[in-house]
Amino acid sequence: MMGMKLLVVEDEQRIAQYLKKGLEAKSYIVDVAHDGEAGLDLAFAEVYDAIILDWMLPKRSGIEVCQRLRQEGNHTPILLLTAKDEVTERVEGLEAGADDYLSKPFAFIELLARIRAITRRPKQTRETVLKEDSLVLDPISLQVTRAGESLALSKKEFSLLEFLMRNKNQVFTAENLTERVWEYDSAVLPNTAQVFIGYLRKKIDLAFPNESPLLRTIRGFGYTLGGKK
Ligand code: CA
Repeated sequence: MMGMKLLVVEDEQRIAQYLKKGLEAKSYIVDVAHDGEAGLDLAFAEVYDAIILDWMLPKRSGIEVCQRLRQEGNHTPILLLTAKDEVTERVEGLEAGADDYLSKPFAFIELLARIRAITRRPKQTRETVLKEDSLVLDPISLQVTRAGESLALSKKEFSLLEFLMRNKNQVFTAENLTERVWEYDSAVLPNTAQVFIGYLRKKIDLAFPNESPLLRTIRGFGYTLGGKK
C-alpha cells in the first residue's frame, strides 16, 4: 500500500504535535499548518489523502478553507474538528464540503477510525480505468496497455505509474515520489525513483515510438506524466 499523506491544520501547537506524533506512529506521513491561510497554501501545493481541519483557526476558519478548496475543485477528503457540537454547526460543516466531523475532545482511536472511513470512500476516479492518450491503467485488474498492447510492469512500476496517472500534470521531485510510492521501504536508495522512472519510460514511451511520449522530466525539478499535446 502507498503511504497515506495527511495535512493537519490546527493552531493549538500542543494538539497539532500530539496529532502529528500519533499519526506518524500509525505510518501516516503528516504535514502540519497552524492557520487557515497556510493550510490552504499546502492543500493546493501538495497532494493529500485527507485533511484534518480545525474549525476555529487564525486568518481563515476551517469552514472558509473547506469552501475554498471545494470551489477550486479540490476533493481531498476533509475531517472537520470542532469544539462546537450543535446540529446546526455540524450541518454548516457538511454543507461547506467537509466529509465528516469530530467534536473535541475526542479519543485518538475515534480519529483514526474516521480517517480510515473518509479515505476509504471511493473518490470520483477510484474505480474507473485511468487513461492518458493511448496509455490505459486498470487499477482493478492491474492491467496496463499502451496503444492496445499489454505491458508487463513490476509491482513498483505499476504503483509509480498509477500514482503519476492519478496526479496527472503535477510535477513531483524524486524525493516526493520516493516518499509517496515507496513509503518507509528500507531498501529504497536516493536514486530509486529516478531509476524506476527510467524503467517506466522505456516501457510506456520508448517502446512506442509512434505514440506521443507521456513521461516528462522537468529539468532540475522532477517528473510529470501527461499534459502537453
Ligand atoms: Ca483552533
